[in-house]
Parts: sequence; C-alpha cells; structure tokens
Amino acid sequence: MARAVLRFVEHRITRHPDADVTFEAECLRCDWQATPSPDGAAVDLECMSHTGRSGHNGFRRICTSFALVTRVGDDGDLSSLNEGVCPSSGVDEGSQRE
Ligand SMILES: [Zn+2]
Repeated sequence: MARAVLRFVEHRITRHPDADVTFEAECLRCDWQATPSPDGAAVDLECMSHTGRSGHNGFRRICTSFALVTRVGDDGDLSSLNEGVCPSSGVDEGSQRE
C-alpha cells in the first residue's frame, strides 16, 4: 500500500495588488445599470438619480474584488489577512435628496 506524506502549508488571501475593487448596481424593476466604477459613492449617486427619474427604488449592488493567495512565509506578514473584504461604498445612506 502506498503512503502519502501530507504537509500543511499555511496560505493567506489578500486583495490583488493589480486590480481595484469595482462597484456596480442594477435596478430591480427595469434594465437600468449604473456605470461600473471603483468609486462606490459615484455608483450610489447614480442609483439615487435613477430613483428620482423613475421612482424605482430597489437595486442590486455588486462589489467585485480580486484576490491573491500566497504561501505564508513568502514574506511572512499576516497583518493584511482581511484586505479582500469589500469596503463600504462610502455614501451615508439617506444623505441624498431628490
Ligand atoms: Zn429602474
């Protein structure tokens, strides 16, 4: 019977250094879509403008981030372990009025 030697190698996942987070939004009631942007606040403003024009107030917001997995020990730094999480878009909910 063959034997395998298993070795556990620690990895970490971080935001990909060569790609920005991208924010997108689409209306739940029509085909309208916001222009994709690395600026979440700009996308939120487009949504509020769409609501002002159409009365449609439901949106699907999409935040895309790209990840990079590396072996711990390549540089040994674990401080950026949670960098892959999408940040909040930055608009204070309810701060915009039509
Ligand atoms: Zn709409």
